[in-house]
Amino acid sequence: DGVEDRNLEDAIYAFGFGNRCSYVKPFGAGHINETYAVYMPGEGGDELAYVLQRVNSNVFKDPAGVMDNIFGVTEYLRNVIRREGGDPDRETLSYIKTKSGCNYFEDSEGEPWRCYNFIPDSVCYQLVEEPEQFYQSGSSFGHFLKQLSDYPASKLNETIPDFHNTIRRFEAFQVALKRDLKNRADSCRPEIDFVLAREKDCGVLVHQQDEGILPLRVTHNDTKLNNILFDEKTGKGLCIIDLDTIMPGLAANDFGDSIRFGAATAEEDEPNLDLMHFDISLYELYVKGYLEETKDVLTEAEIGSLPWGARLMTLECGIRFLTDYLQGDTYFKTDYPEHNLIRARTQFRLVDEMEQQFERMQEIVQKYTK
Ligand code: ADP
Ligand code: MG
Ligand code: MG
Repeated sequence: DGVEDRNLEDAIYAFGFGNRCSYVKPFGAGHINETYAVYMPGEGGDELAYVLQRVNSNVFKDPAGVMDNIFGVTEYLRNVIRREGGDPDRETLSYIKTKSGCNYFEDSEGEPWRCYNFIPDSVCYQLVEEPEQFYQSGSSFGHFLKQLSDYPASKLNETIPDFHNTIRRFEAFQVALKRDLKNRADSCRPEIDFVLAREKDCGVLVHQQDEGILPLRVTHNDTKLNNILFDEKTGKGLCIIDLDTIMPGLAANDFGDSIRFGAATAEEDEPNLDLMHFDISLYELYVKGYLEETKDVLTEAEIGSLPWGARLMTLECGIRFLTDYLQGDTYFKTDYPEHNLIRARTQFRLVDEMEQQFERMQEIVQKYTK
């Protein structure tokens, strides 16, 4: 409608494209943000040059904090990439400031817009089709950590407070269990007991963080394969994207979350638990790629924390699904009443298998540290 068109046009002018830009059209199929492709005249005709996005401020409660983190990290990365002899225009996202020098533009309805360069000749994979890609994924996110190893992580805004505070997640579960608003507790006693038996585990990483044994790192917090762009020509990992959830955190958090979904043999909501397993050979591939990049950067304590990260990110995720089930499905989107319970079960299956193979998981980490 008219207001929307006007906001889009205002944004195009705010970022200084104005008359220079050839045309703008909707880009991708995101469910959260409104995204547009900005075409500029190039040598061989019009080229997709920028991605322009109206951020959903219901989801991102602190857009200024998010953009501050993104600018801090990407500008730092550009210098690191230059020193490595790489191409800063391809190996990190370049966010563009408005003509008046702001990190983002606020439209007439107070909604934030931001803009970054499109990276041509790159590909993106939705899911791991070849085990090699999971190795590449470990290598790319390891490299990202290494590039940012001297970045002052404590200066980053914690835009989602307590995101991986597993103790807080456990407490929220206890509250939901006590209230039992939907009288669902009776339908999930084994799962409840599974969580209650692991209260102590929930503190393993949080305590080491509080005591300063584990340092704060720049964490990405959405370390999926489809958040890596690969170079179309070389096939190598090129650029980490989707930087909205960058926050201070533990290396074990990002590592663990990658393992949680990447080393699983079935979907998160697979109802047939016989299909859900922790694949330790996939785990090994990720460890190899990750530690090849990070073994000289991570502390000994951090390296030791990685297998715990896998266990606890998976446990935490299962706890969140079970909590939401007990609360009546208010957070995660569900397609049927047991959806969150099914999800919790797959996560607990993975946790159970990781616990059984924990020594082997630790040996694998040691093997690639040498
Ligand atoms: P979401 O938060 O919706 O996952 P992303 O930032 O990950 O949004 O972008 C969605 C998809 O758009 C990516 O998986 C990738 O395929 C493509 N994409 C995003 N940014 C770029 C870019 N700078 N250059 C090329 N493709 C991109
Ligand atoms: Mg993404
Ligand atoms: Mg995102």
